Amino acid sequence: MKDRADVMVLGGGPAGCTAALYAARAALDTLMVEKLAPGGQMATTDHVDNYPGFPDGIDGFSLGERMEQQASRFGAKTVYGEIVRVSLDAPVKEIELADGAVHRAGAVIVAPGASPRELGLPRERELRGRGVSYCATCDGAFYRGKDVCVIGGGDTAAVDALFLSRICRQVVLIHRRDTMRAAKAYQLRLQQQENVEFCWDSVAEEILTQQDAAGKVSGVRIRNLKTGETREIACDGLFIAAGNVPNTALFRGVLEMDDAGYLLAGEDTVTSLPGVFAAGDARKKPLRQILTAASDGAVAATMAEEYLLQE
Ligand code: NAP
Repeated sequence: MKDRADVMVLGGGPAGCTAALYAARAALDTLMVEKLAPGGQMATTDHVDNYPGFPDGIDGFSLGERMEQQASRFGAKTVYGEIVRVSLDAPVKEIELADGAVHRAGAVIVAPGASPRELGLPRERELRGRGVSYCATCDGAFYRGKDVCVIGGGDTAAVDALFLSRICRQVVLIHRRDTMRAAKAYQLRLQQQENVEFCWDSVAEEILTQQDAAGKVSGVRIRNLKTGETREIACDGLFIAAGNVPNTALFRGVLEMDDAGYLLAGEDTVTSLPGVFAAGDARKKPLRQILTAASDGAVAATMAEEYLLQE
């Protein structure tokens, strides 16, 4: 690789991996930068049922690995590290990693994805790892044969509750409305699980803990928004699946974004800076799925190629 890449892809989720695949297949020197492991948030999904080509579904971790392998087969390189600084307005774009390494490229595809939203409950952060979790596939095994609660009404809550229902004694799904936004297919499967109970119109008010030194989660106090009644549910684990927030803090003041932090770029992925393209869940758009993230990645790589040809 030259002293700088043609295209740098920031993020190794489905958007980033697909962007790297398309850029590498266009014979561009391509560098993908990922913090932890390929797949992004997808890697924490137990079962992906709606990505075409996998009739029996596939676990998100394997899908992430496959996507990265496919990009690397065409020459895309991956470096692992946390990006601490970006400089994107000059023709040569530059990023710096936490270990001090600096990487440069003529075009950048920003695909940082999103992270689970915290509920903002008292002691929520402190109890992370002591009963509070945002990832059922990562932490579910710790609760084998135990009782857990899942908070949320989207696909993540549904998939997590289904996964946990297979290993836990009881799963209580707590949702602030009386209908879930999760895909109907997931909802139907959930209703068929005998060990899944639903608490509708309810929000968590307080995380309860054991009175011993470990102080682990022992339950959750919820309030019914319609009746005002409160109820304590005993549980060993509390899985929060209340949506996501975009990982765009690093780009604040650099790229245009909306009030929620989603990057403003159209279907062409063109951002407010020349040579910088936005792809995946961090982009403001109506549907955030693995498929639409991958689609963004393909478009962004094609737009980056066009941009570089004009430079
Ligand atoms: P989501 O679709 O945004 O759903 C978030 C859920 O959390 C909603 O039900 C919301 O309630 C609830 N919520 C938000 N803030 C809350 C709060 N402060 N207190 C209590 N509840 C709160 O997020 P997601 O389920 O993580 O899904 C994100 C994207 O990934 C979606 O596009 C989804 O389709 C996709 N996904 C797909 C799969 C799959 O197909 N295998 C799996 C996981 C995720 P309301 O409904 O009342 O707004």
